[in-house]
Amino acid sequence: MRVPTRFRYTLPLVLAVTCLCLATSSFAQRLPENVLPEHYALKFTPNLANDTFEGEETIDVRVMQPSASITLNAVDLQLHDVTVGKQTAKVEMNAKDQTATLTVPNQLPAGAAQIHITFSGTLNKQLRGFYASESGGKKFAVTQFESTDARRAFPCFDEPAMKATFDVTLIAPKGDMAISNGKQISDTPGPGPDQHTVKFSTTPKLSSYLVAILVGDFACMEDSSDGIPIRVCAPPPSQKLGDFAMGIAKFAMHYYNDYFGVKYPFGKLDLIAIPDFSAGAMENAGAITFRTNLLLLDPKAASGSYRRTVGFVVTHEMAHQWFGDLVTMKWWDDVWLNEGFATWMEWKPLDAMHPDWNVQLSSLFETGFAMQADAMASTRPIHAGTANTPEEIEHLFDEIAYQKAGAVLKMMEQYVGPDNFRAGVRQYIKAHEYGNATSADFWNAETEATRKPVNTLMEPFINQPGIPMVSVSSQCAGNKTQLDLRQQRFYSDAKLLGKPSSEVWPIPICVKTPGSASSCEVLDQAQKTRDMNGCSNWQFINANAAGYYRSSYPTKEIAALEPDIEKALNPAERFSLLTDQWAMTQVGRSQVNDYLGLIEAMRQDRNRIVWSQINDSLWDIQDDLVTSAEQKQFQAWVRSLAGPAAQELGWQPKPGEDDNTKSLRPVVYLIVGIQGDDQRVLDEADKLAREYLHSPDSVDGSMIFAVLVLAARDGKPDLYDVYLQQMDHPRSPQEYTYLLRSLSFFPEPDLQQRTLQFALSDKVRSQDTATIIAGWQDLHPGRVNWDFVRDNWAALNKKLPPVFSGAVGARPASQLCSAADRQQVADFFREHPIPGAERELNEAMESIDQCIDFRAKQSPDLAQFLVRQSKAAAGN
Ligand SMILES: [Zn+2]
Repeated sequence: MRVPTRFRYTLPLVLAVTCLCLATSSFAQRLPENVLPEHYALKFTPNLANDTFEGEETIDVRVMQPSASITLNAVDLQLHDVTVGKQTAKVEMNAKDQTATLTVPNQLPAGAAQIHITFSGTLNKQLRGFYASESGGKKFAVTQFESTDARRAFPCFDEPAMKATFDVTLIAPKGDMAISNGKQISDTPGPGPDQHTVKFSTTPKLSSYLVAILVGDFACMEDSSDGIPIRVCAPPPSQKLGDFAMGIAKFAMHYYNDYFGVKYPFGKLDLIAIPDFSAGAMENAGAITFRTNLLLLDPKAASGSYRRTVGFVVTHEMAHQWFGDLVTMKWWDDVWLNEGFATWMEWKPLDAMHPDWNVQLSSLFETGFAMQADAMASTRPIHAGTANTPEEIEHLFDEIAYQKAGAVLKMMEQYVGPDNFRAGVRQYIKAHEYGNATSADFWNAETEATRKPVNTLMEPFINQPGIPMVSVSSQCAGNKTQLDLRQQRFYSDAKLLGKPSSEVWPIPICVKTPGSASSCEVLDQAQKTRDMNGCSNWQFINANAAGYYRSSYPTKEIAALEPDIEKALNPAERFSLLTDQWAMTQVGRSQVNDYLGLIEAMRQDRNRIVWSQINDSLWDIQDDLVTSAEQKQFQAWVRSLAGPAAQELGWQPKPGEDDNTKSLRPVVYLIVGIQGDDQRVLDEADKLAREYLHSPDSVDGSMIFAVLVLAARDGKPDLYDVYLQQMDHPRSPQEYTYLLRSLSFFPEPDLQQRTLQFALSDKVRSQDTATIIAGWQDLHPGRVNWDFVRDNWAALNKKLPPVFSGAVGARPASQLCSAADRQQVADFFREHPIPGAERELNEAMESIDQCIDFRAKQSPDLAQFLVRQSKAAAGN
């Protein structure tokens, strides 16, 4: 799955779906291994008018030990005729364990056996299992099985290691298309007068969670790459917006075939847009499903950030065809073997296809979210300790499994070299294809292929929670610099950070000094000194920002670096320095005054990712530190900081402008307009937004979202209605997404309430309700959203599938910043627990604590900074 993480408006899109199901806590008892599946023949007849389906299956199994009973998974299904061989079976359903136990009168001998079951179920509205979706008045029956929901569509051995082959037959209404994992091998009329029967080729061995069944009014565009047919399918006529994704898919198919040395194994590839979808996308073998707005793209309406996001989602899901589908983790506690790998891999083909997009920078930006989560006391190791219940399993699809694991793989790749690393990846894939693997299988393959100690380096990063902090200090003697490097676990809680920590990681540290290339060495103790030739007044200890750790520098070294920071460090390194300094400031190891000084030293920087980080930290400062009395002064300082860049860039791209500049412009304008409250910028945005809504070509695609948000921030009530009207007839999935996200920027309290009520109404798809609530952008006083969630919890849970409860509960809570609010949140979730979401809620509580601490420590420092600024401004 791809579930891009947090929400900040520079990354306008998706939702952290950490699924936290509200159903009664069901302990997913592991299936006994006395019977294993080998092949399924599945037939489904969805009845779209009634939201029901009928199913029939024959499972070829191997009985390992003689037994009279077989237990498999099934939930929310009615089983009718059930036989094993020639014997009729008695069926006992266990809703708590989500199993069905079939018992026959005579013991089954070891060897081959055949189970035959007819069953029926409901096409649900929960966006999981076999569910109903709707678009343009037409109904669709579609599936989402990861992690444990194949059992809601057919009785099955629903564990990733119980792989089998699948023959799927779909009986669809006449005129509707049927899609599954295999190639279509026949399409015949009947059995009913208004039906047709579509059969698909036998799949290779698959885990049950990777099966896909889709019926509905789809239309496809077709092409191929390396001899593999590729289609992009969607409710017509929107498949016409599939060109962009098709181009990426064709390129990535060839790129991955070459990289992995194992040809794409599933015969054909379909990329399908689903009107209602819980995650961002899902890597079903050969039949990848997507949210509509993450597959279909109108090039004229999409910003650079949006393009990169769609590109990432396509390449991520395609990487899964090897990491996940061909080689699957043995159990969900190693879900990082799927998600970390796909996250590490997703930028490679995009970078090869569009070097000018600098996509590595975007993936580095996302790593920042993992670093934040991993600095919490409530974080977890990459290899999960508990993954027993469906709720616990769903909860593992988080920043740790995706971005942290991806970052650790990148660090290892840099350490052993990309060619060596690829040799290890190929060895791993070849050894486990059509089977399953564990963490150790991967690092053992790497160790063997690279002849480097990847196993001892990786193991602590996979099994130990948290992120290391490396502190550096240096001394010059003779013509040598002695570096003192120390590591400890980094916490965003100052009290925890102040205590000695016992964890040690073997960290490849690559040091860069003025005028010399980086040199790398492993820091595998709590403290080590390292001698370097020559003397210099700064050292940068995370060359290329490839290491997964926080760096802590003495203030004087940052000051020494500031004057020529742009020449000394590349964009990734500048971004990493800024985020590290910001983390040190938040925890009180550095002063906000020094951080703002660093930003000022970087005001000439014109890299998009540097300004994205500036933007993020300014939001936090504005939210957490700036008092209403200081508001005007702070805004004036922001205008002086970013105004010149905005003026230099102008509102419109210049001919031939590069991708970085096009992507930088909206970030800078959002800073000046929103953090700086620049009335001229807001006025112009209001004018441009109205022009755009009237004539879409009047604003360049790179600026549409920024213009709509800035105009919303200016808050003219009539514009709100214009946005809502336009959302009834969006000209592209991008436009709908932009307008939806812009609604929460209107500052008037009554419009904020209207947006929240709108999110709850039938006019908004449940997937988008979650986007509004969890992506809400509160400036002062920052609690409108929480109050709404608290007061409408029952209604929200009625509307939202369980998958969204955690994000919609925890995200608004995490924005609060007082002891009284903390108590209120704790009381609320004690009364309204969200099973499986405990860690997410604990993180929200930690965020509140840290905000309280941050405010107490840094408010006086910010006040002094602002006084100095206004004196300096008055002196000018
Ligand atoms: Zn994924």
